[in-house]
Amino acid sequence: MVELTPSEEYITMLYGAGGSVMHDFIKKYILKFFGDLEIQGLGIPLKALDDAAAVGDIVFKSDSHVVKPIFFPGGDIGRLAVSGTVNDISVMGAQPTALACGLILEEGLPLRDLQRILASIRETCLEAGVAIVTGDTKVVEKSGLGGCLVNTSGIGVRTESLEKNISVVRRYRPDFRERWILDSNLRPGDKIIISGTIGDHGIAVLSAQEGLDFGGDIKSDVKPLNKIIQRMLGEVGGVVSMKDPTRGGLADALNEFSEKSNVGIIIYEDKIPIKEPVRAACEMLGLDPLEIGNEGKVVIGVVKEKAEEALEFLRSTNEGRDAEIIGVVTDKLSGVAMETIIGGKRIIPRPIGDPIPRIC
Ligand code: MG
Repeated sequence: MVELTPSEEYITMLYGAGGSVMHDFIKKYILKFFGDLEIQGLGIPLKALDDAAAVGDIVFKSDSHVVKPIFFPGGDIGRLAVSGTVNDISVMGAQPTALACGLILEEGLPLRDLQRILASIRETCLEAGVAIVTGDTKVVEKSGLGGCLVNTSGIGVRTESLEKNISVVRRYRPDFRERWILDSNLRPGDKIIISGTIGDHGIAVLSAQEGLDFGGDIKSDVKPLNKIIQRMLGEVGGVVSMKDPTRGGLADALNEFSEKSNVGIIIYEDKIPIKEPVRAACEMLGLDPLEIGNEGKVVIGVVKEKAEEALEFLRSTNEGRDAEIIGVVTDKLSGVAMETIIGGKRIIPRPIGDPIPRIC
């Protein structure tokens, strides 16, 4: 588990755990040095801290994957490395096309394991319809890496589906001027949809880290979502914001939406899909499933007129069969609150950090 106190002098695991400590760290250090470097021409800059950047009409993203262990129930570091970058590009509304793959291999990694990972990268690329077009391989002495780290960077392009989506948004919101799907686009009245069950990935990785058997068949949900997202944009439309709720889980993703769009979000506890074994594992360990990371889910903010249609579309797909409308955007409060099953209201703060280390 991640230690809950950040250090003022040294990097601790919490600085990479996806919650408030990591966000503060990024603002205080990364943005301090890089935040005012300007893109030439139009774009979505680093300081937007969205899932990816846009440079002209190209969406650009880099993501290092440090999951431990490198093989876990339902996936491995290769599948994760492709899905992570593909999904961050996809939630901006772009279609990912090409990836770069940087491998940092630890001395002693069995070549048999490396082959499994490379095969998994290949298979996930074929699933997503993307190519690895460049890359790099480095080797380091045996240390604490756990076998290997994989960085993937990638680019995505604008599509007809994205243009269609934006024209649907403008039908209901004539003043909508954004060219991309951004965290800052939510307005009161929009509905919030989750594409499926939460917590599966984090709990699957935790079970592998700790050698725990929680019963049931807990598997990571890691998968590329670009095809289903592009179809939703083109066939339904009306989507204004999207996020893949990875480290820090749904709680962190919703707080990002709320902060950047400057709106409140109310979610309904009885609508949040959670698999029974994941719920049981969280209860046993005192974890909040809202704060556990996912790698094959998307949180969607959509204009209210299109919410039911978007839900119906998602439920007609394999990836979105457990989708639910889980909440609504409001100007009646700031931050995120949840109407609980017993009829109360609970504030959902940004988590300090994902309680499970090295899940992605
Ligand atoms: Mg993301």
